[in-house]
Amino acid sequence: MANIPYKIYLNEEEMPKAWYNLRADMKNKPAPLLNPGTLKPMTAEELAPVFCEELVRQELDDQTPYFEIPQTIRDFYKMYRPSPLVRAYCLEKALDTPAKIYYKFEGNNTSGSHKLNSAIAQAYYAKEQGLKGVTTETGAGQWGTALSMACAYLGLDCKVYMVKCSYEQKPFRREVMRTYGANVTPSPSNTTEVGRKILAEHPGTTGSLGCAISEAVEVAVSSEGYRYVLGSVLNQVLLHQSIIGLEAKAALDKYGIKPDLIIGCAGGGSNLGGLIAPFMGEKLRGEADYRIIAVEPASCPSLTRGKFAYDFCDTGMITPMAKMYTLGSGFIPAANHAGGLRYHGMSSTLSQLYHDGYMEATSVKQTDVFAAAQQFARVEGILPAPESSHAIRVAIDEALKCRETGEEKTILFGLTGTGYFDMTAYQAYNDGTMENHIPTDEELAQGFASLPNIPAL
Ligand SMILES: *Cc1c(COP(=O)(O)O)cnc(C)c1O
Repeated sequence: MANIPYKIYLNEEEMPKAWYNLRADMKNKPAPLLNPGTLKPMTAEELAPVFCEELVRQELDDQTPYFEIPQTIRDFYKMYRPSPLVRAYCLEKALDTPAKIYYKFEGNNTSGSHKLNSAIAQAYYAKEQGLKGVTTETGAGQWGTALSMACAYLGLDCKVYMVKCSYEQKPFRREVMRTYGANVTPSPSNTTEVGRKILAEHPGTTGSLGCAISEAVEVAVSSEGYRYVLGSVLNQVLLHQSIIGLEAKAALDKYGIKPDLIIGCAGGGSNLGGLIAPFMGEKLRGEADYRIIAVEPASCPSLTRGKFAYDFCDTGMITPMAKMYTLGSGFIPAANHAGGLRYHGMSSTLSQLYHDGYMEATSVKQTDVFAAAQQFARVEGILPAPESSHAIRVAIDEALKCRETGEEKTILFGLTGTGYFDMTAYQAYNDGTMENHIPTDEELAQGFASLPNIPAL
């Protein structure tokens, strides 16, 4: 075989020492978060009761290109990073394609996903500020797991509001969090005002990410020594996740490899924003060109069918408003096995880049995603997360196109995690009972009706 190894590793000295802030190179900056009361950009003072000080600084800074990674975080990263960059020789062979396929595998830590990269950073700044603990929500459970690991390491309290249906369906995820010391509450709950209100209005609801965010924010702002942390969507999270792309690029550069195509799944946009960061930076500065594709579920198509508008980040409408591609904070996606991709909106940074034509987006059906997951698992050995399998689907499709045209394209995709806690979904696929839910235009219109009515700014 070629002289490119199956796995390209970086040694400790080659690991990135700073995160890259993509916004610094954007001509059209992502729109600022707005205060829903005044419709003015949120100030650092207004954000301070919700988020840690340093994280607010990172959130609002769209000028500084690099942020040094504190030593404590770099030491923690060393426990599970660099993550492997794998040349998918076996998949290439199975597909009989001339394409060269690489994937960056973020599932080789106990949280099972890329989310630990930002969890440790957010927990670190909370600890530095002398806080007692943090609150958060979790949908599928990966973020809550990652945060509970980071909090255990640093000695912080961790309160997780877990979407009720996954609390019930994924008891083992919940137990991993409890093992790491987190306090896990199914949401909506009667422990918060907003939770009681949602329960009164929708008795029997199994919850949503938007509801859980509302509860976690309420607890943070009303408890002394606590702040709220979020696992995706925000600029600070994309900043921390740039470690994925920086490592991938450093590894590829070692062998002079330039990807033609970069593919990632997109829920709130953090893994994709992180993976593409240094490549997109080159593209924005006019130094190189790459085709970049965001892949989302057909059941929750914020980029491909959403509106680019200011919207709330939660169902309870208590958070600041972000300008993003959104289905409306009132949109409740149909049951979908890729829980981590069920958010109504998309990172405002990625939304702006998509709006300006720097990247493409496509949506894929659940059964097609699991067909790709199964094919990948059988030849590459890794059992992929359903979320990650959205990227696998499109990587395989692009490689098959190369088989038709004979083009030797280089494809890089993000393999964000493992699917061991998603076996109910795999079971449905294996039994042939998995269904595809694609919202009708009428169903989407209901979500759009929940968009705040903002006078032209
Ligand atoms: C959370 C999650 C995602 C989606 O979140 P992004 O913020 O869009 O990256 C994708 N894959 C896995 C494994 C996840 O846990």
